Amino acid sequence: MQVAETIAELRAHRSRLHGSLGLVPTMGSLHEGHLALVRRARAENDLVAVSIFANPIQFNSSDDFDRYPRDLERDLQLLAAEGVDLVLAPPVTEIYPPGFATYVDVGVVTEPLEGSARPGHFRGVATVVSKLFHIFQPDRAYFGQKDAQQVMVIKKMVTDLDFPLSIVVVPTVRDQDGLALSSRNARLTAGERDAASAIPDALRAAIRLYEEGERSAAVIRAAVLERLSHEPLLQPEYVSLADTQTLRELDVLDRPALLSLAVGVGQVRLIDNVMLGEPESYGSLVG
Ligand code: AMP
Repeated sequence: MQVAETIAELRAHRSRLHGSLGLVPTMGSLHEGHLALVRRARAENDLVAVSIFANPIQFNSSDDFDRYPRDLERDLQLLAAEGVDLVLAPPVTEIYPPGFATYVDVGVVTEPLEGSARPGHFRGVATVVSKLFHIFQPDRAYFGQKDAQQVMVIKKMVTDLDFPLSIVVVPTVRDQDGLALSSRNARLTAGERDAASAIPDALRAAIRLYEEGERSAAVIRAAVLERLSHEPLLQPEYVSLADTQTLRELDVLDRPALLSLAVGVGQVRLIDNVMLGEPESYGSLVG
């Protein structure tokens, strides 16, 4: 496994390798969710590359960025064990040298939900991902359904800016109780981690209602909020039922809907989602 800290080194390694390349962009502090993306990339490409870069311009506060968990040594061990070929783990100044001034702004799908909760977040994501696509020139890039709106933003950017690659979406990997794996889970206290299991419970309640024929967004939203309210440590920020293509809020679920939510738990903010009407997205939440 070749590990590069600079773009020049990465390009030098890349030029010596031949075959199709799958790229998995990450912010590090890797868990089984990231490894699911790596394994999918390993299965579908001759070469697998991973970037490890906590991208400061997609964080809304420098405090959140500073407290983001990091463990490069452990990450590299995990990636070597998965047979990864190339890793880029650059310092911030390598990606954003002094005077950096070019940003990618994707319209419309960046506006609601995470876009309105975290102004500038998707501009940061689209900018760094477009740089990574130019640096690695992958044939395929792998993203998690866990960040459903991010997937929509990246797909829109790839279409609008004619990036010559495919985007592959990998289902959300969950803990035993159903909580989506996230690097941020490491920052939960034991009590907060217990309380967080109300999040998958709430998603299950919504799936149950939907599968029983309920089509009122208000009824499903109320059921989700009711389940979350059992845990005083949880502070729901939004519960959305939106069109899966446009992210416009729906009153009546007359088509598949993205149920997505953001919940504060102590110092941590967790997001999760499921596509109602698309049972393959339910994954380990049901059955
Ligand atoms: P991050 O390091 O949080 O930026 O995540 C890197 C990639 O891993 C993104 O495409 C995420 O959507 C994906 N990812 C994070 N958590 C999970 C999970 N629990 N299951 C599947 N993919 C995930």
